[in-house]
Amino acid sequence: MSLVSDKDKLMIESTGFDVENIRKDFPILHQKVNGKPLVYFDNGATSQKPQTVIDAISNYYSSYNANIHRGVHHLSQIATSAYEEAREEVRSYLNASKKEEIVFTKGTTEGINLVAHSWGRANLKAGDEVVISAMEHHANIVPWQMVCEATGAILKVIPIDNKGELILSDAEKLITEKTKILSVMHVSNALGSINPIEDLICLAKKVNALTLIDGAQAVPHFMVDVQSLDCDFYVFSAHKLLGPTGVGVLYGKLELLEAMPPWQGGGDMIKEVTFAKTTYADVPLKFEAGTPNIEGCIVMAEAIRYWRALDHDAIDKYEQALLSYAKEKLSEIDGMIFYGTAEKKVPVISFLLEGLHPYDVGFILDKHGVAVRTGHHCAQPIMDFYGIPGTIRASFSFYNTFAEIDQMIDALHLAKRMLS
Ligand code: PMP
Repeated sequence: MSLVSDKDKLMIESTGFDVENIRKDFPILHQKVNGKPLVYFDNGATSQKPQTVIDAISNYYSSYNANIHRGVHHLSQIATSAYEEAREEVRSYLNASKKEEIVFTKGTTEGINLVAHSWGRANLKAGDEVVISAMEHHANIVPWQMVCEATGAILKVIPIDNKGELILSDAEKLITEKTKILSVMHVSNALGSINPIEDLICLAKKVNALTLIDGAQAVPHFMVDVQSLDCDFYVFSAHKLLGPTGVGVLYGKLELLEAMPPWQGGGDMIKEVTFAKTTYADVPLKFEAGTPNIEGCIVMAEAIRYWRALDHDAIDKYEQALLSYAKEKLSEIDGMIFYGTAEKKVPVISFLLEGLHPYDVGFILDKHGVAVRTGHHCAQPIMDFYGIPGTIRASFSFYNTFAEIDQMIDALHLAKRMLS
């Protein structure tokens, strides 16, 4: 069965987005799983990688692997330049004004922890408030709970409605003079909602609160400009944006990063160490203690180069067409319940089939080559809100096709017959 159907061909004509060609860049997609063509709809968990990214890993290790910043020798100099060029690539991608505003991290989780533990512990005191939202990933809940516990600050939560949209009128009431930081996700991993972060950032600015945006699920779908958003911090992980695992970015406004204490000590983050006193390196190295994920950062930049070269208007139209087609086909299945029906969404669909356990459905889909995620998606408070243990989540990328959606729909019909 071809994973590019007539419907895909029509889309290629109308959007100019040539998915058939794009798929050639992703070798992993061309395989069978359990005797069926692989349908990879777990992009929200991690994206697949184009050949240029795979080659960049191999090229690093076969040509210039060396530790950075400390060596005078040839390989170390090449690796150091590539690492610092990667920083420049990320700066230009996010449209940050200065290269020093880009801190390399292990990923979104580490970026949020860095701000919570460094800025949070230095600046929060009893009675101050930290505002998050009810749809946050655990990575944007737990670090703030830990810091609130340590400092006596209070965690406030912007509620959501049934559609999975933040209730802005409540946000207005919750964000007050007591708010010191607002930390919210740009896009929900569990529901796909695109949050009105511009409005939220505006509310925070009115009370002089800082803003941190968790961009983990935004960057794989659209371009982000940190200067036009005017947020204070923005974090994301490379692995959801066509890059490797274990590496990511914290963008922070320079004056804030400069004022923040380091949160880990060790090599590379110092100017001078004596037993009497240590002085710290300037940002961003102050926050990059120890040998970093050198090849990860270099390869992340390669992934970003690949992503930036694509036609984003065409991708947006194409992904929205995938989303509406999937919604239409899924709603034809008896007992279908959708979770997250926000007006503005990335192509992520969370659903349940009445009376069926999501794991059982996920298991049968896998037997038919279809990879989806089942469970709470590290967002247990959302599941509590809907009163369910978890959902089945199909999260699409620009390399997915309409034919793949058809394969998932056929497998779901079968799952219904087998499990009912
Ligand atoms: N925030 C959101 C919205 C996410 O989707 C994820 C990953 N599922 C994270 C944070 C954590 O990302 P990582 O595990 O790459 O640190």
